[in-house]
Amino acid sequence: MSSECLFCKIADGRIPSTQVYNDSHYYAFRDINPAAPTHILIIPRKHIEKITDASKEDAALIGNLFLTANRVAEQEGITDFRYVINCGVQAGQSVFHIHLHLLAGRDLYWPPG
Ligand code: AMP
Repeated sequence: MSSECLFCKIADGRIPSTQVYNDSHYYAFRDINPAAPTHILIIPRKHIEKITDASKEDAALIGNLFLTANRVAEQEGITDFRYVINCGVQAGQSVFHIHLHLLAGRDLYWPPG
């Protein structure tokens, strides 16, 4: 945990959020500025700044991040959606704690902007 990280604070309840899913390793909540009718962020509780900082010992954690997101999608009744992980400022990463965006509820175009 990083005491200054926004998403660490959200995951441990120091900053309020709209919780969607919660267990001992993961937390999911609604994006404050949704880019689609459904926009959920799924995060590991472990503080890792970006996906390229994940190490071999994080392999199960990263794999289970996706399985947790699948569970969240199922819970939301969503079958068609997009997962996004932004890595680095140029790619649009603004919060430096790994998070998986789950976007759904409208047509999603390709390539993304
Ligand atoms: P990224 O740009 O990939 O780093 O995504 C960060 C996401 O976090 C953005 O979509 C923001 O809208 C979202 N966000 C920032 N602060 C909050 C917050 N306090 N609660 C919920 N979502 C947030």
